[in-house]
Amino acid sequence: MAVTALFPRSLKFRLTGVVVLLVLAATVVVTWVALMLAEHDMKAIIGDQQYALLSGAAANIDEQLGARRQMLAALAESVPDAVRDQPGRMQDFIERHPTARKAFYNLVVFDAKGELVHDARHNKTDAPINVADRQYFDDTLALKAGVISAPFRSQLSNMPVVLITQPIFDQRGEVALVLAGSIDLDNATFFEQISAQKPGKTGFMFIMTADGILVQHPTRARLLQHINARAGRNDATEMALRGFEGWTEANNKDGSPGIYSYKRLKSINWIVGARFPSDEAFAPMIAMRHQALLAATGFAAVAGALAWLVILTLLRPLGRLRRHIADIRAGRAAIGVLQRRRRDEIGELSTAFHELMAEREAAQERTRMIADSMPALIAYLDRDLRYRFTNAHFREMMQVEPDSMLGKTVAETFGEPFYQMLKEKLDAVLRGERVHYEREGVNQGRVVQLMGDMLPDFGSDGSVAGMYLMVMDITERKNAELTQAASEQRLKLLTDNLPVLISYLDGERRFRFVNATFRQWFGLDPARLIGQHLFDGIGAEHYRNAEQHLDQAYRGRRVTYELKARMADGIHTLETTFVPDQRADGSVAGVYSLTHDTTRMKEIEERLIQLARVDTLTGIANRLMFEEILQLALGRARRNRQPMALAYLDIDNFKTINDTLGHGAGDEVLKEFAARLVGNVRATDTVARLAGDEFVIIYEQVHNGDEALRLAAKIVEAVRCDFCVAGAPMRITTSIGIALRDNDDETPAALVARADAALYRAKRDGRDGYALDGMA
Ligand code: GH3
Ligand code: MG
Repeated sequence: MAVTALFPRSLKFRLTGVVVLLVLAATVVVTWVALMLAEHDMKAIIGDQQYALLSGAAANIDEQLGARRQMLAALAESVPDAVRDQPGRMQDFIERHPTARKAFYNLVVFDAKGELVHDARHNKTDAPINVADRQYFDDTLALKAGVISAPFRSQLSNMPVVLITQPIFDQRGEVALVLAGSIDLDNATFFEQISAQKPGKTGFMFIMTADGILVQHPTRARLLQHINARAGRNDATEMALRGFEGWTEANNKDGSPGIYSYKRLKSINWIVGARFPSDEAFAPMIAMRHQALLAATGFAAVAGALAWLVILTLLRPLGRLRRHIADIRAGRAAIGVLQRRRRDEIGELSTAFHELMAEREAAQERTRMIADSMPALIAYLDRDLRYRFTNAHFREMMQVEPDSMLGKTVAETFGEPFYQMLKEKLDAVLRGERVHYEREGVNQGRVVQLMGDMLPDFGSDGSVAGMYLMVMDITERKNAELTQAASEQRLKLLTDNLPVLISYLDGERRFRFVNATFRQWFGLDPARLIGQHLFDGIGAEHYRNAEQHLDQAYRGRRVTYELKARMADGIHTLETTFVPDQRADGSVAGVYSLTHDTTRMKEIEERLIQLARVDTLTGIANRLMFEEILQLALGRARRNRQPMALAYLDIDNFKTINDTLGHGAGDEVLKEFAARLVGNVRATDTVARLAGDEFVIIYEQVHNGDEALRLAAKIVEAVRCDFCVAGAPMRITTSIGIALRDNDDETPAALVARADAALYRAKRDGRDGYALDGMA
């Protein structure tokens, strides 16, 4: 858990917190900066002060060393020749100079070869000590002047020392002896004086040679050691060894900060140094820092308390606004309570809330208006299935006052059984599903059909916060649907049982309705045809035949055309009528197609046509057919330049047969007569009965009169054989008039007239014979 969660989340708290933090930060920063500046100045003062102190100490050391060298020079100067030549007398000589003796830890004398000839402190002249190889000895001889040695551990005293030398010359001015005074570095009194000037309580001074060998240091064990013999690094030391003089800040080898100052001695190449630990140097500053921090915290606390009071006062109107909004939401107050006269941000906020609330109220009012004017139950239920919104239709449809339902559950409003009936659906919606249902209900004693829709209302976190409910009375629609379905059923029954193909094609020539006759006639499944294009439904060939007619139908014309189609029992003649389905604007939405089988009618028609051209009594061609055939035959003869003949026949004394044997016997004679004519002509010739007992024969391919006469004689002969009439044999004769085709321009009527004229002559010539037109 974050630490911030432990604190109250109120704006007041946060504002106060910010004020406290800002005051704290400002105080701390200002104090800190002031202290830093002060510290910087203080450091400079301390550094300068320390350097001045150190310079004083260095001058003091220079002075002391100088004094000792002068003292030693004076002593060397005063050595009498006798003493010089007999170093054994040196003891007495030195004892006579106690001041010089006290100034040094020890006084020793070497001869020109470096042999120790006198040791004032230990008097160990017997010890064979030679310093000829020492630098300070060589330097003294070479320079013929006193030097200060590098620090070293004395062979005589086993102590860290430096030597100050002074040559003692013989009469020739050559170095005869070297007088040397040692300074015990461990206990040198003149160092005590500078040690007393160490900075602060924890600071210290030290001396090292320019090479870094410690000559003086509070830690005695480090004397004669190199300053860097102790592991680690100190930048100030390095600077000093490189020649730096002055003061600087650095960390010592333990990492502890301090102010370092360095000064080189004038009389010898030594460095006097001092360290002042920062802890002590800045102790007052650190104390001030703590005090400043405490003061800042105090300021912040006071500022916080004041800020809390001020913020509390300033935010009081905000709290009032919050209460007002809560009251408005709970319905305890109207939006008028929101104060909009204030001229500050809270006034603006109130105004904004007022506008928002007003808009919300208007939107709610609109929603209510819309919901109330809908012919449906509209409600919103929360997760606990309590009504939160109900429209006016509840009053009408459920006899419940809509407002009284608000806040109540479904079970509380309509009873437990009603809730149980809908429970499964309500649970599904609460799981986030959309539910659509239809159910039967009762409204004022009347059974009604209801259609309901329940939609889950998902909250911002994706969970179901409630649900929208809409229920419509669809009784009328249902009834209309049922009526419609029944009507469609009837229509389907009719169309399916009509011996007609009935279909409807939409604007894209796809089947939308197909009756059952398609299956009966062609074995096509109506259900499979639905949606298919006409091309696929009836095949390429039939589609090609239908296309031009269909195009016209889609242009708004009713079209009928005939086609032949193969069915199980052979080829049928079908007549199809396309009826355009026109919209109010005249455009064509689709085409109704009605096809009926006209095969049977066609047969009857053809039979009728046949009958009209055949003589019903004899079965041979009648006048109508004769005229057709004669016309054709003449045309053919003309085209082929072929001859032809026409015979005109009439039964002799036929009336007598009728009169004596009756009309029936006459008919018998007519039938037999026709049969004999047909039996005595070629298949290409035509026999016809024109009327009563008048017949004609069209002879094709008759070349001349003789041939024609032979044919006529053959007929006359054929008729002469007895007929059997009413069971008794009877002699029948006929007269024949023949005419040959004369020229290309002759009309059929002219040819018939010529044959008739010849017949007239044959009758006149006594009957039972023939006459050829043109032959007298
Ligand atoms: P002619 O030798 O001059 O021809 O003497 P005819 O008696 O045959 O006289 P005509 O040819 O003028 O008479 C034809 C008769 O045929 C007249 C009519 O009563 C009779 N007739 C016409 N049609 C029919 C018919 O269909 N059946 C029968 N039985 N008689 C018919
Ligand atoms: Mg006759």
